[in-house]
Amino acid sequence: MDAAPSADHIAQRVVIVGGGTAGWMAAAALARFAPASTRITLIESDAIGTVGVGEATIPGIRLFNQMLGLDEAEFLRATNGSFKLGIRFEGWSGEGSGYLHAFGSIGRGLGLVPFHHYWLRGGGAANPASLWGHMPSAQAAMAGRFAPDPGRPDLPSGLAWAYHFDASLYAALLRRHAEAAGVVRVEGRIASVARETGGRVDHVVLDGGQAHAGDLFIDCTGFRALLIGETLAEPFDDWSELLPCDRALAVAGERTSPLPPYTRAIAHGAGWRWRIPLQYRTGNGLVYDSRHLSDDEAADRLLTALNGKAMGEPRCLRFSPGRRRRAWVGNCVALGLAAGFLEPLESTSIHLIQSGIARLLDYWPGTIPPAIEIEAYNRETAAEWLAIRDFLILHYHANTRPEPFWTERRAVPLPDSLAARIALFRANGRFRREGEELFAEPAWVQVMIGQGIMPAGHHALADTLSADELDDFLSLTRRHAAQVAARLPTHDAFLAAHCAAPAPK
Ligand code: FAD
Repeated sequence: MDAAPSADHIAQRVVIVGGGTAGWMAAAALARFAPASTRITLIESDAIGTVGVGEATIPGIRLFNQMLGLDEAEFLRATNGSFKLGIRFEGWSGEGSGYLHAFGSIGRGLGLVPFHHYWLRGGGAANPASLWGHMPSAQAAMAGRFAPDPGRPDLPSGLAWAYHFDASLYAALLRRHAEAAGVVRVEGRIASVARETGGRVDHVVLDGGQAHAGDLFIDCTGFRALLIGETLAEPFDDWSELLPCDRALAVAGERTSPLPPYTRAIAHGAGWRWRIPLQYRTGNGLVYDSRHLSDDEAADRLLTALNGKAMGEPRCLRFSPGRRRRAWVGNCVALGLAAGFLEPLESTSIHLIQSGIARLLDYWPGTIPPAIEIEAYNRETAAEWLAIRDFLILHYHANTRPEPFWTERRAVPLPDSLAARIALFRANGRFRREGEELFAEPAWVQVMIGQGIMPAGHHALADTLSADELDDFLSLTRRHAAQVAARLPTHDAFLAAHCAAPAPK
């Protein structure tokens, strides 16, 4: 076993348990940013493997990659990746309906009130779809165009983007970086976990009897939650009353052409399905409520909807939406699926890993046992998860579909936090972001309006423009969005020229 820690800092020996996306993201980031004296070991079991899904992200991932020094084109080549300008929600307000949650800004601010208030004053409510005419990312997405265009210093493009990628290739890329930076990988199945008298984790023991002691353990064991759940018995807050989908079927399909620079989230009678375009395949999945749809019906529905041939059999993943009440308990921090799961409707899981790592670095244990910091970590983590949970519920609640699954969703009482948020928006289009919550105003505004929640009025300060000034302003922002999209190459052309992944063997 390893020697006891020095007085330097109390997390000298970090043991990361699990080597999926969460484990390798943590390993790569800690190797880069934890104090130089930290020794990092990652234990993973090839026999157990990883969950093997997780292909769509949100823009924060760019910061994570930049902090690690990953070159964007190299990263996309290595992960079979493509660009993502947003998510297109289809059928959530009945068959044929659709709207985008595009990344980046809507219109431009005038320094007084957010853009959508001017749009509302200009009569936007009569033509909800016109909102996206003022969004460069939305215009580029629907035209199938993309390049990382910053715009001019005096007139930023307003584009923001994330990626679609193969999460197992991403983990492999991060593994190369982490191992090069000194992380020691151990292959083997953990058979038991030993605790100190105070309840903290002392060491883990592999099948062959090899023990690994640590000062700080990071549980990245996926749905199994070996440390935080099985060992430390931290309660799981189950949110299935609010988010009833409990299964997903996933299957890869042939590549589609052209490659859309956005994810598709298409509602069906008992949930929704995703379509995620990668360079050499399309990720497909069907998320459903097993009380309303059998596995066979779900498989049928998924395979019938594929565009091209399936590359293998659909895999069924069962889950309970929710999270561990505390993500950091004693000397164990849970990241990834071990910390909890929210369906991938807004592609938030990988982001939650990233923010968990950032927060851990923010509260990195020094020489004093960090009880007060642990409480702060847990409070901030809980707030982040709750805000995302509410955002997902909004998609289900504000629907106009006729099937029993959807009528039930409309009838379920909302959490007070979300009910208050919808009421505030319905009045005069106001939105308040709480603390460091993930999704900002443009995201909420798009989903509210996209799902048919239209404010009755607008912010009084939007009335300070004259009618002519308002017309000029609205046509300027519309022109800007159209011009940004028009000057970009097609997404396929940009990928082929700069980020083409090698053909699979
Ligand atoms: P895993 O990938 O399951 O890794 C667990 C690791 O722990 C493995 O290395 C395993 O070997 C190891 N392990 C477990 N037990 C032991 C043991 N006893 N001994 C040794 N090692 C052990 N996220 C997104 O951001 N975007 C998406 O589009 C998206 N889509 C998803 C779709 C579905 C249907 C699901 C279920 C999830 C999706 N996610 C998505 C979430 C995403 O897949 C995960 O957040 C991400 O892959 C992290 O997984 P993980 O590393 O926590 O767990």
